Amino acid sequence: MRRVLTLAVVVTIAGAAGLRGDEKTAARWWSHVEALANDGMEGRNTGSPGHKRAADYVTAQFQKAGLAPAGVGGYIQPVRFKTRRIVEAESSLALVRDGKAEPLTLGEDANIGLRVDPAPSLEAPLVFVGYGLNIPERGINDFAGVNLKGAVVVYVSTTPKSLPGPLQAHFGSAEERWKMYHAAGAIGTIAIANPKSMDIPWARSTLARLQPAMSLADRALDEAPGQQLSVTMNPAHADKLLAGSGHTFAELLALVDAGKPVPSFALPARLKTTAKVERAEVESQNVAGVLRGSDPKRRDEYVVVSAHLDHLGVGGAVNGDTIYNGAMDNASGVAAILEVAASLHDAGAKPARSILFVAVTGEEKGLLGSSYFAAHPTVPRASVVANVNTDMFLPLFPLKTLMVLGLDESDLGQDVRATAKAVGVSVQADPEPQRSRFVRSDQYSFIKFGIPALAMKVGYEANSPEAAIAAKWTTERYHAPSDDLSQPIDRSAAGKYVEIVRDLAVRIANRPDRPKWNDSSFFKRFAKAATH
Ligand SMILES: [Zn+2]
Repeated sequence: MRRVLTLAVVVTIAGAAGLRGDEKTAARWWSHVEALANDGMEGRNTGSPGHKRAADYVTAQFQKAGLAPAGVGGYIQPVRFKTRRIVEAESSLALVRDGKAEPLTLGEDANIGLRVDPAPSLEAPLVFVGYGLNIPERGINDFAGVNLKGAVVVYVSTTPKSLPGPLQAHFGSAEERWKMYHAAGAIGTIAIANPKSMDIPWARSTLARLQPAMSLADRALDEAPGQQLSVTMNPAHADKLLAGSGHTFAELLALVDAGKPVPSFALPARLKTTAKVERAEVESQNVAGVLRGSDPKRRDEYVVVSAHLDHLGVGGAVNGDTIYNGAMDNASGVAAILEVAASLHDAGAKPARSILFVAVTGEEKGLLGSSYFAAHPTVPRASVVANVNTDMFLPLFPLKTLMVLGLDESDLGQDVRATAKAVGVSVQADPEPQRSRFVRSDQYSFIKFGIPALAMKVGYEANSPEAAIAAKWTTERYHAPSDDLSQPIDRSAAGKYVEIVRDLAVRIANRPDRPKWNDSSFFKRFAKAATH
């Protein structure tokens, strides 16, 4: 797509003057999306000059909305990252059988993931472990009867349908998986996606393999201690791994799709790798501003309203376009929190608790900016009572149903139900828990410290025309350059969404009591851990 002229932005804002309140909200929301997702922002990659420009825009808008600085000596909280880029020509993967090496082609068969710092070389046995889960409290042990000591584990990166959604989400994460594999003595992983639940087809995801990957420079926040290798396998070529095992990937996937147990077995091959990596460090920005609470007893408590600012930057061309603008992912979410702050300012709102607005960096690199913020909050962590996060809420059709991730996990569910009802919107829990959305965005960084959280999107019923529109969007535009300003958007849905986030934040800020996890919630355990 072409660069959006600044003139168009100005006209939109000026034109908003004579509009009704909700239309004004929708128009201003879109003007923020345009400001953050135009080609001049170069896809807001973490650590890039484009991201810095976007952070400056957010700072200016926070200031305009009367928020006090809540970063480190201003609105910005600097975050340092280690970056790693693969030098593919000097890296290799091969399967060794009977002393003979069979190379795997990087980019086509498999890719070396760089969220983990790979060992310069290694050779290790391969063990297939089905879903790859060891969850004693649920009676699941995919490691029974196999020896993972010194091995690279090969798993299908999906979770059994028999597990409740939140557990699928939590235990299916790369970080929790690595804890299990590390405890069993493994040194690395090969993940094979279930093609049926891949958000991004292999042909597109492989385009990102030459982009730098990142981890937090703060070593205490390393999510994969001891991991020497992380490989993603093209599911269409997974039989290369399984050759000689007496199993095919199709047969194993059929068991997964039927929700049946999947066998674990040693593979009759060893994996041999070399990895040449270019390393550097960069700094990026979290941006934080606070609307001070008015109640002397509660003003030192905070409701955190968050959205990630970063996207994927400039990368592999799709249809001749190399700029990954991230208009919906997640300029739309940052625009929403900017508009929440602006409309509270316009209304002269005086919530009892403080509302802390945070635009975080590094989400696309693995929730890193929010992890850093939650580990090093700019207000005392115990004073954060809740997090309301917005990531890619997808206003593609009218907002009649609000999808609430975490709806039944805490008593924030009551707040969001009441807030939505007041504007004639119904609520639903995640209709597709197997996609693990509750732990796949920044709210999870707060949840891990015991802070009750919600994330919301424009909802839809399963098998409806809206579900088809959302699915088509994911296949065609998610993490593609076409997630840009030229796509069709339902601005009135966005306006209504902004109102809900605003009213919800105020409602939580005005609660007499602090939000609590439900007793039945799996995530309650983190609150217990945090207070001890
Ligand atoms: Zn994303």
